[in-house]
Amino acid sequence: MVSTTTATAETTSNPVVQENENEQKSKENGTAKASARHQAVGHKSLLKSDGLYQYILETSVYPREHESLKGLREMTANHPWNLMTTSADEGQFLMMLLKLINAKNTIEVGVYTGYSLLSTALALPPDGKIIAMDIHRKNFELGYPFMVQAGVSDKIDFREGPALATLDQMLTEESNLGFFDFIFVDADKDNYVNYHERLMKLVKLGGVIGYDNTLWNGSLVAADDEPLPKYVRYYKDFVLEINKVLATDPRIEISQVPISDGITLCRRIK
Ligand code: SAM
Ligand code: CA
Repeated sequence: MVSTTTATAETTSNPVVQENENEQKSKENGTAKASARHQAVGHKSLLKSDGLYQYILETSVYPREHESLKGLREMTANHPWNLMTTSADEGQFLMMLLKLINAKNTIEVGVYTGYSLLSTALALPPDGKIIAMDIHRKNFELGYPFMVQAGVSDKIDFREGPALATLDQMLTEESNLGFFDFIFVDADKDNYVNYHERLMKLVKLGGVIGYDNTLWNGSLVAADDEPLPKYVRYYKDFVLEINKVLATDPRIEISQVPISDGITLCRRIK
């Protein structure tokens, strides 16, 4: 999450930012419902103004959010690991992307309670399928009733266990090679490079892989002595590494999209 303090230190002379901050403060004084605020679930946004991010959520995202997604989001907000969930604006972005590319067969690496999974399931056509992987079935099961409620649970094939092993198993079946339209990677950042080599064999030519959190809390450009949460510091080098790998891989075209914590879209061209 980017604090308003950062924006204030850098931009107090900017009237637009000042206005956003004033609006933010008046909301913090009680007019906005705590449950609707992104801070309540620890969502990350790299936007400099928290008020502007809240504006996006309230204007364009929450009013259009599917009721099952809203239910899942609110349930997840009370879960101790809620910092991991996909934010509603990124969910909306994924749904738009999936529809634009007419995705039908997809993979998700890293499910947690399933906000991105349910977003994907809602965006796919009725015969669409998602192979979803996570080491923790329990968290997926917390979100599953919302997928049933939304009528999309039949599209989901959940596979419990370390994703590398699941992917290696998938690679032994020829029918999986070059088969998938879209793959969303949102799990252990220290394995992103390992995932990439495998996923390049599973995604079809012209298909898209999205690597999530590739701006890693803004830490990628932090000075060595800048205080960072332990987990942010630990994974920082791995995120720098995957970014370098993706930036120089001639088999893909890429776009680093600064939504939420950053998602790098990779389109396979070779
Ligand atoms: N996409 C999810 C959402 O929308 O809520 C968030 C995923 S969360 C950031 C990361 C997930 O990756 C966690 O649920 C964790 O259990 C899972 N994970 C971590 N290491 C993994 C591994 N080696 N294989 C599969 N899943 C893993
Ligand atoms: Ca993520």
